[in-house]
Amino acid sequence: PAPTTLAVLQHRFADELPELAVPVRAAAPPQPQLVVLNEPLARELGLDPERLRSPEGLGLLTGTEPPAGASPVAQAYAGHQFGGFARLGDGRALLLGELEDAEGRLRDLHLKGSGRTPFARGGDGLAALGPMLREYVISEAMHALGIPTTRSLAVVATGRAVQREETLPGAVLARVASSHLRVGTVQHARALDDVDLLRRVVDLAIARHHPEAADDERPALALFRAVVAAQADLVARWMLVGFVHGVMNTDNMTLSGETIDYGPCAFLDAFDPTTVFSSIDRDGRYAYRNQPGIAAWNLARLAEALLPLVDESEETAIALVTEALQGFGTTYSSALRAGYRAKLGLAAADPEAADAVIEPLLDLMAAARVDHTSFWRRLADAARGDAEPARGLVLDLEAFDAWLATWRALGPDAAAMDAVNPVYIPRNHLVEEALAAAETDADLAPLHRLLDAVRSPYAARDGFERYAEPDPAAAPYTTYCG
Ligand code: AMP
Ligand code: MG
Ligand code: MG
Repeated sequence: PAPTTLAVLQHRFADELPELAVPVRAAAPPQPQLVVLNEPLARELGLDPERLRSPEGLGLLTGTEPPAGASPVAQAYAGHQFGGFARLGDGRALLLGELEDAEGRLRDLHLKGSGRTPFARGGDGLAALGPMLREYVISEAMHALGIPTTRSLAVVATGRAVQREETLPGAVLARVASSHLRVGTVQHARALDDVDLLRRVVDLAIARHHPEAADDERPALALFRAVVAAQADLVARWMLVGFVHGVMNTDNMTLSGETIDYGPCAFLDAFDPTTVFSSIDRDGRYAYRNQPGIAAWNLARLAEALLPLVDESEETAIALVTEALQGFGTTYSSALRAGYRAKLGLAAADPEAADAVIEPLLDLMAAARVDHTSFWRRLADAARGDAEPARGLVLDLEAFDAWLATWRALGPDAAAMDAVNPVYIPRNHLVEEALAAAETDADLAPLHRLLDAVRSPYAARDGFERYAEPDPAAAPYTTYCG
């Protein structure tokens, strides 16, 4: 028999952390229209794509008709934004509830651009279509690259104009996450000076993400270690594909280790470790090369917030979290080195010898500002015997030839390189092109074509040549918070 409700939502966050959950209602969109639906993800969540396309489905995806028993809330959290502490919360978003997916895992169903909440301050509670499609494309690309991330279920145009520097079409993004618990969630509980609340936040994070921590003698410390490891691994993965998050505030760092908040993010084209894309990051705090250091800084803020649960003695607690935080550097650098060895086709080589060729290559790449993504594919050609495509991108040929000889002697596996070095990433100019077509002409063809490319990133396909190439105009790129 057909299910009577489209989705069965739980409300664990709202029930277990009522102090951090403010009941809210979504703003009714004047003319909701489905722009893009992630059918495979819908199925993974046990949602019927056909029903999601119906008026009932649009009611769910815009929050105006939450399923019976759902209890939509705006989540309170805090965060260090560019280093300064602030009390925040979902100003234009809400948590519809948690869904059990096909594998029995609980996933948050969350809406962004769903109207003002008590946390909106001066904001209008709305989102523009372009930035929501941007999140949709880039999070799908990240997922296809095997990088832990929140997912995008759908974008629905609202029919309401959004006033930014220009007037833009409005939209709501339906986002799926293993949870929206953030470093800033813990910071908020700590700032309220409520140890019982802090313990419930920790218990929920452990239950949803790091269940093994529950059996530890010190669950809060074990949770911290698990978050440190997950974030170290995540940021290493970002670095390996040239991803710049752009706004690594502590409210934008999850406890699950999923990438969240695709605002001003972008992928490197020219390999320059000092790259910053975001218009608001004037000092380059969140530059590509600073990401591991910032992640560790954010984790130190998490450690501070957890102290009362780690040990009765603050001195002991500080010693324990300090030691645990050292794990970041170890996990990060071993994940990064293993990742580079794989990119170099040297997973089976002597690790020490393989590690020795990483730094010199990165120096050559940076000196010539090579296109980050296509360079690695050209290196696979070099492993097959044709070094010219890669040589064509570097400046110091003598140094590069010497490097090539050392690397080749280690026996790089070209096929293994092609399995980990993407051909297709969401290149900035192609993302802009797709969003502009969707926004100004309601033409979704470029968006779907780009999605097609980035969802199968590793195998070069006929007809997708321009998706593999850097911007021929190569203009400096700036991103804005949408
Ligand atoms: P972000 O930098 O995207 O992490 O956002 C920081 C905070 O600003 C979050 O609490 C958001 O909910 C809030 N915010 C961003 N844009 C808006 C908006 N248009 N209306 C209300 N709140 C917003
Ligand atoms: Mg955010
Ligand atoms: Mg944002």
